[in-house]
Parts: sequence; structure tokens; C-alpha cells
Amino acid sequence: MPNQPQSNSSLLARSLAAVWHPCSQMKHYENFPLLPVARGSGVWLYDGDNKRYLDAVSSWWVNLFGHCNPRINAAISDQLGKLEHVMLAGFTHEPVVQLSERLCELAPRGLGHCFYASDGASATEIALKMSAHYWRNSGKPDKMQFISLENSYHGETLGALSVTDVALFRDAYGALIRQQATVPSPDWRKAAAGESAEAYALRCADALELHLQQHHAQLAAFIIEPLVQGAAGMAMYHPAYLRRARQLCDEYEVHLIADEIAVGMGRTGTMFACEQATEPSGSTLMQEAKGITPDFLCLSKGITGGYLPLSVVMTRDEIYQAFYRDEMAGGFLHSHSYTGNPLACRAALATLDIFAQDNVLALNRVKAAYMNEVSIPLREHRAVRNWRNTGMVWAFEVESPHGDFARRCFALALEHELLLRPIGNTIYFMPPYIISEPEMDMLASRTLRIVNELG
Ligand SMILES: *Cc1c(COP(=O)(O)O)cnc(C)c1O
Repeated sequence: MPNQPQSNSSLLARSLAAVWHPCSQMKHYENFPLLPVARGSGVWLYDGDNKRYLDAVSSWWVNLFGHCNPRINAAISDQLGKLEHVMLAGFTHEPVVQLSERLCELAPRGLGHCFYASDGASATEIALKMSAHYWRNSGKPDKMQFISLENSYHGETLGALSVTDVALFRDAYGALIRQQATVPSPDWRKAAAGESAEAYALRCADALELHLQQHHAQLAAFIIEPLVQGAAGMAMYHPAYLRRARQLCDEYEVHLIADEIAVGMGRTGTMFACEQATEPSGSTLMQEAKGITPDFLCLSKGITGGYLPLSVVMTRDEIYQAFYRDEMAGGFLHSHSYTGNPLACRAALATLDIFAQDNVLALNRVKAAYMNEVSIPLREHRAVRNWRNTGMVWAFEVESPHGDFARRCFALALEHELLLRPIGNTIYFMPPYIISEPEMDMLASRTLRIVNELG
């Protein structure tokens, strides 16, 4: 009877009986809340009893402009009356063409070709396969290994897991994958006492250089989360690392894959995090244009405003041309049933329209400044460590006597009408961009109460 309203408790029991939830130990739900969500509006989610929760994590970092956004709803409804789906091998349609054209205009210069899939992990798979296949097509078949940063996260399918350095995910499946090497993360929390974030980033770039010197002949690509390593617990680093990584990858003929699945679409303050890659301070090249162009740019999560599964890998013409030939075997061999789904493309186009019409990046700068201001008591709390902010991402560690901090904090936050999902002892905020000043006040003040109780 799917159309009848469900009380919270009966929906919970049915869910636990029939649904195997992701990223969960199912047994924990015996005494740990599973939130039944009946509807959403703006930053709010409502349960079956009409209790509300501020979605401070944008539903796993996907939602940009709120739940049930009228403009995105309208675009999808319009598309629904025209074409819901058609395969993309041998067929094309207006939404996928328009989206590709607009992404190519917005992305770092030179990324002129869009290859689509349905989720982030598949975008990682595509970038890895395309990179290795490029080298094979270019007469360098030995270049088929990859490197990533320490504590990297690029998705959980077997290929993506091979460049993911999160022990919990990796250990159980280690025997199934060809684990790739990692290089030190420029995460500034690891800097030596007195060392600046920039100096530490450049020291890590030296370690990258050493690795490239030794292994470049076997290396296809270096995959990186620009500026913020999300699943690592919102580890943030100085943008000088990105520019140096670009230079080194050029020097040693290794592709640079920018996984902007989480940080793209304005999250770090610019449309794409790669735009912030700077020269080291004091460099004579300071006045040159900022930003770097990766060889592959992976986008997903926020690209549809959090509505429908869609991902895209963008690449350069030289890479595209290496696959352009008479035989099928030299072409890029990869496909998913829902590649380039028209409904998802329309949601993405509506999302890009909102960015343009509302001047979102400028508005977000004002919002971020406001959030930093109202968070001062939180930031100065005795139990709070490593307060950090990049664009519309905030994070900090809480010194707490509780071993199960993340779960306790999640449960306590629900009592305070907040949806927080700490990673270990790290609380982070990644709110939808439409969050208002009163909502930011509430987020900061209630989190302070939670930290008071758990810290
Ligand atoms: C979420 C994420 C992925 C994986 O995306 P899915 O859609 O969950 O498969 C890959 N890389 C990064 C940086 C992510 O944050």
C-alpha cells in the first residue's frame, strides 16, 4: 500500500526487514536511529511524524539548491513529457548535447569532450581505463599503474577501490583488487609545528616528484581530490600542491585526473576546485593566469542538484584523438545502460541555470563569511580542534571521551533537528547553497550544544 501514509515505526520495521542499507552495519540499527524521510523542502527533511531535520550534509554532498526545488522539478517534469530515456550508443538528444556544450564552456580550458555514466565510482573507472588505454594506443602499454594520495577516496567499485586509501573499505576487499601506490597527502593537519600549509604542501609535492622519477615509466595517471579530501574527513590542503602536481605530471608524462565528484559544482568557492591552483607564493609567475587543466575531470554528486544519478568525465582533444580510428578495438570501450539519461541531463541543465541566474558563487561567498562569523563560539570551544573552511565546506575535530563519537553525535543531532554525519571525530557541514542566515544561526548554535554535551 505504497500510497498510504506510514507511521515512522512501521516503515522502519519494513525497511530493516527488506532493505540492506549502504555504508552500514545493519545490526547497529537495533539501537541506532534509521531516519524515515517522508518529504523534503529547502534545507529541510521531514519524517512521517512531520518532525524536521536540517540537512547539513546535503544528503551525502549531492544537494545544492534544496529538496524539491521548484525550478529543477519543473525542468524534469517538462522532460518527462518529451522523452524519459534513450540509449546513447547510436542515438543522441538535445539535453545531452546542451549539457556537454555548457560544461565545456565552464570547465578549465581545453576539456572539450564529455563521456557520461551514472555515478561517481563509474566516472573514476572511466578515467582510469581511458588513461591506461590512451597510453596503450600511444605505443606505451607499460603505463598502466596509478597513484593516489594517502587517505584518498575515489569510490567503491573494485577499480575505484584500487585507488582508494580508506582502510575500512580496502581491507575486506584487498585480495580482489590490484592496490595502487599512494603518495603523502598535503593535508595541513600533518604539517610540522611552525610549518605553513603551503610549505607542507610543497614538501609533499617533493615526495610526489621522487615517486614520479622512480616509477613514471609504469604510471598512467595520478588521481587526486582537489583541495578537499572528503571521505578522509574533509582534509584540506593548500592549492599550490595542485599547480606543482600539474607541472610534475607534465614533466614525467603522467596524466592528472581531477576527481571533482564532491568538490566540483561550486563547493570549494569556484565552479571547479582546479581553478584555485596557484603558483607558490613569491614565485615570479604570480601574475599569470591561475588554475590548471587536468587531463581528466570527473564530476557527479551535485551535477544534477542532487536529483538523479549522473556522472561525466571530461577530457582533452589530444586524448580523444588517440581513440579516433577505423578499428573498433582502438575506441574507448565502456558503457552503462543509463548513460546520458535525458531526465538527469535536464536536472543538470536546470542546476547550471540556477548558478547563472542567481549568481550563486558570489552569494555563497557572503554566506560562507556569515557562517564563519556565527561559528566563532563553536570554533573557540575547548574541545574543538583544527577548525577549517573551504568555500561551502566546514570541518573540525571534537576531542571526546566517547569511543563511538560519530554515532552518538548523529543521534544527538537528530534530537536537535540537525542531520550531521560525522566521520570519526570529525564533524563537518556541507549544507545546500540555499541555506539562509537564520538556518546558519541554528546550525552553529545547536552544534555548539552538541559539542558541549559530547566534548
Ligand atoms: C562520492 C565520491 C565518489 C564516488 O561517487 P559515487 O556516486 O558514490 O559512486 C568518488 N570520488 C569522490 C571524491 C567522492 O566524494
